Amino acid sequence: MISFDAALAKVVQAAGLLGTERVALSDAHGRVLAETVRAKTPLPPHDYSAMDGYAVNTADFGGPLPVTLPVRGESRTGRVAPRFERGSACRIYTGAPIPDGADAIVMQEDTTRTGDVLAVQTTPTAGEHVRRRGEDLPENAVALETGTRLGAIQLGLLAAVDRASVDVARRPRVTVMATGDELRPPGSEPRPASIPESNGVAIAALAREAGADVVVSAPAKDDPEETRARIRAALDASDVLVTIGGVSVGDHDVVRPALEAAGVTLEFHKVAIKPGKPLTLGRRGETHVLGLPGNPVSAQVTFLLFGLPLLRALQGARDVLPIARRVRLSAPIRQKTGRRGFYAATLAGDVATPLRGQSSGATTILAWADALVVVPEDSEGLAAGDVADAHLLRGS
Ligand code: AMP
Ligand code: MG
Repeated sequence: MISFDAALAKVVQAAGLLGTERVALSDAHGRVLAETVRAKTPLPPHDYSAMDGYAVNTADFGGPLPVTLPVRGESRTGRVAPRFERGSACRIYTGAPIPDGADAIVMQEDTTRTGDVLAVQTTPTAGEHVRRRGEDLPENAVALETGTRLGAIQLGLLAAVDRASVDVARRPRVTVMATGDELRPPGSEPRPASIPESNGVAIAALAREAGADVVVSAPAKDDPEETRARIRAALDASDVLVTIGGVSVGDHDVVRPALEAAGVTLEFHKVAIKPGKPLTLGRRGETHVLGLPGNPVSAQVTFLLFGLPLLRALQGARDVLPIARRVRLSAPIRQKTGRRGFYAATLAGDVATPLRGQSSGATTILAWADALVVVPEDSEGLAAGDVADAHLLRGS
C-alpha cells in the first residue's frame, strides 16, 4: 500500500503537457494558458481622466479660491484631445485623453460653471484624477503567466491587452468507463437487482469542468473478455482512461487483470486512504489509466483528489494539487489509524460539520457536502473544536 502523498506524486509526475493549440478568446474559457502573455502596448495606452470634470494646469492655481478660468474645448472618449491653452480649463469626461499641457483634473463637483466661465473651489495637485499611460501594466510586462487557468476575469484581461486568440493546452481526451452487471442508464426500466449508473455521470462532469474532452463509454459487463476488449479500444482513443468499479479483490472484479492483459503497466493498486483504498494507477504508452473503486463516495473522492490533478498536469497548469483550507470541527470524527481519511462535511463560515452516514457506498453525502475534511493517517480522529484541513467541493 502506497501513501496518499506518494500516490499523488506518481500521478502528477508521470503527466506532462499534451500539446498546445491556438483558440479564439470566445473558446478559451476554462482552458490553461500555454504562453506567457505580455502587454504589447502599455495599459492604459494613453493618459486619461478618471473623473468627469475639467483638465487644468496646476500652475494656474495657488492664489485664493475660487480660481476662475475660461472653459476652452472638450475632450471626449474615443477622440483625440483638443489643444490645451494655459490659463484655461478643458471640459473632460471619464476615460477621455488628457490634453497636452494639462496636468490635473478637477472634479465637476468641485466647480461652478456659468456659461463658459468656471469657478474652481479646490486647489488641484499635479496628477490628480489622471490615470497614466502604462500605470496598470507597462509595455511588455507580463499580464498572465503560462499555466494560468483562464477564468472569466482572466479572459477580460486578455481582451484588455488586445488579444483575440491565445495558445492554450490541448484538451485531454478522457474516456470514462463504468463497469458492473448491475448498472443501467438512469431513468431506464429497472431490471431486478439493477441500479442506475451514477458515478460515470459525476466523473464525466468533473473531467469536463477540468477542461477535458470526455467520452462516456457504455458500462462494461463484469466479464473478463468484454472488459479487456473495451479497455483496449478505449486506450487507443484516449489520453486518460478512467474505469469505475471492478478494481478490488472480488471474484468478479475483472478490471485489474483486464488492464494488465491490455498492456497497461500498473504503478500502484492500493492507496492508504479512506475511502478509496483500491485506487489503481497505470499507464500504457502515453495513455494514463485511473482505476477508480466503484463505491460512489470512493469513486468521486479519488477522482477529485487524483483525477483532477492528473488532468491539470496534462494541461501544464501551474496549480495542480488540491488546495486545502483550514476549518474548525463542530463535532468529532473517529477513525482507525493507517489511512488518511476524507470526510464529507457541510461548512458554515469556517465551521465544518461532518455529515451522518459516512459510508463509501453512500450516493447522497457528497452531493450535500461543501467540503472534505482531512484526517491524517496517524490520527485516531479529531475532537470538536479541532482545526483541520478541508478541500472545498464547490467553487466560490
Ligand atoms: P465495485 O467496485 O465494482 O465492487 O463496486 C462497489 C459498489 O459500487 C457496488 O455496490 C456497485 O454496485 C457500486 N457501483 C459500482 N460502479 C458504480 C457506478 N458506476 N454507479 C453507481 N454505483 C456503482
Ligand atoms: Mg463492480
